[in-house]
Amino acid sequence: MDLKVYVLDGGRLVTEDASIFSADGNYKGEHWDMANPCYLVVHPRGMLMWDCGFSDSLADLPDGYNSGRSVWSLTRKVSKQLEDMAIDLHDIDYFALSHSHLDHSGNANLFKCSTWIVDEAEREFMFRDTARESKEFENYHELENAEICSFTADHDVFGDGSVVILRAPGHTPGHAALLVNLAKSGPVIFTGDLWYTCRCRTTRNIPSNNTDREQTFESMARIEGLARELGARIIIQHERADWNSMPRFPDYLQ
Ligand SMILES: [Zn+2]
Repeated sequence: MDLKVYVLDGGRLVTEDASIFSADGNYKGEHWDMANPCYLVVHPRGMLMWDCGFSDSLADLPDGYNSGRSVWSLTRKVSKQLEDMAIDLHDIDYFALSHSHLDHSGNANLFKCSTWIVDEAEREFMFRDTARESKEFENYHELENAEICSFTADHDVFGDGSVVILRAPGHTPGHAALLVNLAKSGPVIFTGDLWYTCRCRTTRNIPSNNTDREQTFESMARIEGLARELGARIIIQHERADWNSMPRFPDYLQ
């Protein structure tokens, strides 16, 4: 069986002032409509869930939630999407996040029975004292008791080089990207929030809330270099054009 990547809808973010995505004063007053996918990687040796979208509770709000800076919404619960795919949560062997922000970790508690693969720096960041009072925390706190596989260097999930979690810190201390080597599509790198849109990739604008600006630029250079070297396709997770180009269940990236 070849490697497959199923694409799930983890919500949508709409802002009328995209300047929040640039610490350098760009994008002021711009309307941005961003996707928020998550991915189920199916390997002959197991399944990996990469990111898990906004909390399913958001789908109960018909107009979404206005954070003051952007409106977040979720059309179909991620748990329901997995159910419709006939995926039992207990069959998902591994769970990993690009990073712990709430648009990526909203349903993390659902995956408490999976082995949580996490950069040690991100795990520490998520369970530091001040994080325990954050909005995100209630959505992922059960991971603290999950089986944990922590790493401090790139992590080869199935041991055959086909699915590799790449360290790409800076947005958060343990931000990561995911390299998947697919039979038909070739190598693909899902880049979390290393860039928010294609434009951010060109202009290299980063938001002011990144934990380390210089580290972010180093991660960008590293992932760009790796993509060139491997001839990999870069997928910017929030970029709507990338979302639009992805197959939908029952189709998958192969
Ligand atoms: Zn995000």
